[in-house]
Amino acid sequence: MKHFWIVCLWMSFALFCITTTAQENGRQIVILDPGHGGVDSGTIGINGIKEKDIVLDVAKEAIRLNKELFGNTLDIYLTRYSDTLISLSDRTKLVKILQPDIFISIHCNQAPRKAAQGIEVYVQQPNTTTNSDLQSKSENLSEVILSEFDNALGFKIRGMKYANFQVLRETQDICPAVLLEVGFLSNREEAEHSRREESVMGYATVILQVLLKEEDAKNY
Ligand SMILES: [Zn+2]
Repeated sequence: MKHFWIVCLWMSFALFCITTTAQENGRQIVILDPGHGGVDSGTIGINGIKEKDIVLDVAKEAIRLNKELFGNTLDIYLTRYSDTLISLSDRTKLVKILQPDIFISIHCNQAPRKAAQGIEVYVQQPNTTTNSDLQSKSENLSEVILSEFDNALGFKIRGMKYANFQVLRETQDICPAVLLEVGFLSNREEAEHSRREESVMGYATVILQVLLKEEDAKNY
């Protein structure tokens, strides 16, 4: 029992340090949320690849590129760093604690119609209590993501959509929050594309470019 409290105290202290350091250094705090994990594979691609693996690779690649190419300009945290299943409420709990500037949940799409292709970005469906400033920032973020995926990687834009997803519902009043669906694993061409290392690097680069643009916009 004594150990339990020591662990609790230590965890609170570690969390306090992370939060203070992140806020003091003035960098934009970003939480990337690779969907699924562990027993929850997410969508299984037509070629056998798993959504949980691709989205984790993209998020980890974003951390690597931020460090190696962009001089650690952004302060990026992930909701999971390995192949483990994190509950949706624990994912949003991290957002509530860290109070980031941006939250992006990363997923891959699937559809019964095998020809379906492209990029979709979801924003929480607004209601009467929605913070309209954050809502428009989320909508703007989703438009920037869509156009960057189109311009830089030639993805078909399927557009911004509204949904009622827990990770968006519970973060919409904290920071701009979107859920990105990077291509369709039910489509042979996009599933094959997502299998390649260069593509994962491309997805991560586009996400970083969007985040850096948001950072610039914030500073002017
Ligand atoms: Zn998913």
